[in-house]
Amino acid sequence: MECSFFMPTRVFFGKNCVEKNGTEFKRLGKSALIVTGQRSASASGALADVTGVLKDLAIKFEVYNGILPNPDIENVREAAEHAKRMKADMIIGIGGGSPMDAAKSVAMLSVNELDDVSLFSGPYKEWALPVIAIPTTSGTGSEVTPYSILTDNRNMTKKNLCHDSLFPRAALLDPRYTEGLSYEITLNTAVDALSHSVESALSKKATSSSLMVAMESLKALGPCLLNMRPDKPIEPDAREKLLYGSMLAGMAIAQTGTTAVHAMGYCLTFFKGIEHGKANGMLLVEYLRYVKPVNQSTIHHIVSSLGLSNFEELESLIHRLMPPTLCLDEKEMDMFARQAVHAKSVENTNPVPGYADIVSIYKNSFDKLAVSHESTIPSRRC
Ligand code: NAP
Ligand code: FE
Repeated sequence: MECSFFMPTRVFFGKNCVEKNGTEFKRLGKSALIVTGQRSASASGALADVTGVLKDLAIKFEVYNGILPNPDIENVREAAEHAKRMKADMIIGIGGGSPMDAAKSVAMLSVNELDDVSLFSGPYKEWALPVIAIPTTSGTGSEVTPYSILTDNRNMTKKNLCHDSLFPRAALLDPRYTEGLSYEITLNTAVDALSHSVESALSKKATSSSLMVAMESLKALGPCLLNMRPDKPIEPDAREKLLYGSMLAGMAIAQTGTTAVHAMGYCLTFFKGIEHGKANGMLLVEYLRYVKPVNQSTIHHIVSSLGLSNFEELESLIHRLMPPTLCLDEKEMDMFARQAVHAKSVENTNPVPGYADIVSIYKNSFDKLAVSHESTIPSRRC
């Protein structure tokens, strides 16, 4: 048996974990740039908790609150200039996956001169500045991964920056920060976490240890997903489990990467403005049908970890949560498949899909709704 597992992030999970673990900030630097989105870092209370601790510890800080959902290269370059100007020696990312991923790219760009190609490929002369990640959504698991996903407008796609130094040095997860999330964002992000665990378990790179983490994540996510209804409030206990499950799903993809679902979903986000988790969720059933013939026992394990009895129950759960309400015409499917087939994560899929398989997954996902309509490629809804 061969096995490896690398997860160098110190994790602190629980109510008031920011105040309780101020020493983590002290350990990592003297001057912090806090990177956030426009509203939620302060609305969730996370920003006030962090700045309170930094003031108590006499750590200098400034806030950059201009990160947009699905941040692009220009967005993180601007924040990195801010970090350089103030001579930051650590970056604190507060928010959903977008600000946390942006914080990682800022940490890399603050100490390396990188053009838009070498930003993703390296070589990186210097290790990124230390990052502390504080999630306010329960989905991406970015607080425990070495990935920073950026929108590359010139190449009309989303790309993955990956380096060991991008693993946050510390992740502080307080479920209270997620209590103000709307039903829709909670659902989209929870389905992203589901997708991470499912893809990780089915990845060619899965090992017994990554599989164990992915299944534990599904056990935490399953009851919450089964209970989710638009008219039903999400209780604090469920919020806690969603955050825990998404963190474990992040640890799983940190080992295995994602697979074709994410590669295909990026096109739906870039060209159609579909939120990241929703894009994955709308493709998940057809992806599972594609990989099922060679992954029967892992799929059985996924089904039982979620608390379901059979594959049909899994299909109907995903369809209930994420009905594929999107129209794609033939031209779009062709273009998206040509792009997705070259993504690195496709190689992790078992079996590796070719162009025709990817077209089929798009087609089968959206066929019932596909009508011939005027395409607006390339345009973003968001
Ligand atoms: P997001 O883009 O970070 O945030 C979506 C929306 O939710 C934003 O409008 C945000 O507001 C709001 N929001 C965040 N926290 C909130 C809270 N507590 N209460 C109310 N609203 C809140 O969404 P995400 O799904 O978490 O992240 C998606 C990004 O992560 C994508 O770019 C995706 O590619 C990436 N991703 C990364 C990894 C990884 O391993 N690094 C894995 C999967 C996905 P504000 O703008 O005000 O913050
Ligand atoms: Fe994701």
